[in-house]
Amino acid sequence: MTTVTEPAATLPAIPVMVPWMGEEEATAAAEAVRSGWVAQGPRVRAFEEEFARRVGAAEAVAVSNCTTGLHLALHLLGIGPGDEVVVPSFSFIATANSARYVGATPVFADVDPATGNVTAASIEAVLTERTRAVIVVHQGGMPAETRPIYDLLTPRGIAVVEDAACAIGTTVYGEPVGASADVAVFSFHPRKIVTTGEGGMLTTNRPELATRARRLREHGMSVSAAERHATGSVAPEQYLEPGFNFRMTDVQAAIGRVQLGRLDAMVARRRELAARYRELLAPLPGLRMVEDPAWGESNFQSCWVLLPEDFPIGRDELLVRFTEAGISPRRGIMAAHLEPACADLPQVSLPVTERLTADSLILPLYHQMTDADQDRVVAVFREVMGR
Ligand SMILES: *Cc1c(COP(=O)(O)O)cnc(C)c1O
Repeated sequence: MTTVTEPAATLPAIPVMVPWMGEEEATAAAEAVRSGWVAQGPRVRAFEEEFARRVGAAEAVAVSNCTTGLHLALHLLGIGPGDEVVVPSFSFIATANSARYVGATPVFADVDPATGNVTAASIEAVLTERTRAVIVVHQGGMPAETRPIYDLLTPRGIAVVEDAACAIGTTVYGEPVGASADVAVFSFHPRKIVTTGEGGMLTTNRPELATRARRLREHGMSVSAAERHATGSVAPEQYLEPGFNFRMTDVQAAIGRVQLGRLDAMVARRRELAARYRELLAPLPGLRMVEDPAWGESNFQSCWVLLPEDFPIGRDELLVRFTEAGISPRRGIMAAHLEPACADLPQVSLPVTERLTADSLILPLYHQMTDADQDRVVAVFREVMGR
């Protein structure tokens, strides 16, 4: 008999994120398949209603992902060529790209070093007479301080889109992100919290925007395919304006409905793990972990740590040390303005963004993570710091 022996003492890998899903999601997806209706249909509608209720927004419109949702949001608000859209560079590149999709120019604002979010002051510094919209990102789930931002922009007729890709379950001024937003867009990518594989949700408190968003995500059709099917109507649909195919499928929505039911447990666990990281890292001098601001509570979608200037090794070398220990943190949140994709835009200097992106890393944090897993992460810091 031959036996295959695994190398001894190989500890399981610790990834940066693992989605939390189980048999319930598998069963829900199978039910959608068995029903014979897999494209956008009744499950998408039910998911939208449940999502709007959870977030506290008047309307929710499911889309294929957050990137298409941001594109749709800017299109709905009439942003186009010649317009400037202020965005943080300190964000996933989709935020800046969405301005380009409508023919507008992204203009980068710097961020607050504590939260990684744009502020009324950093936005005001880059406003011009061509600014028509601002995308405010709740970066990594940290709530942006939105009140002073709306106070600055609303009187000037500048639209606000909240990029809440990472922020489902985050609260701002005591209510969920999205509850008071004109337009917010969420992501259901597995690297976020609630996942449908790919997927997104646009929420709004302006019903006329929701009606048009529903039409635009489905080719500009006067009656949705699902509606026509349900009513048995034979009247041909009309195409009222040039639209898109940004639909979510019913298979995804079936999974999303189960995931949404897990949200409170997921956020509670993430906050617990973040609090434990804070305790464990506190004795290590100079490390600064992102924390709740005064105006809200994060879901800790990205729990990042900023290294002090005098850290013994560089951030990238630290990432290698983690990899050697079977742990996969991520480099800090990217800075879009430093990427080749943005080389055609006016070159800007964003000192806070540049420091945060160069010297931070995102710690592994997922629902199923154990205390022992966390201890392994912290042990690498201790070892490198000789503590
Ligand atoms: C992930 C992310 C997006 C894009 O979301 P997708 O659903 O993958 O399209 C947009 N903005 C931010 C801030 C993100 O983190």
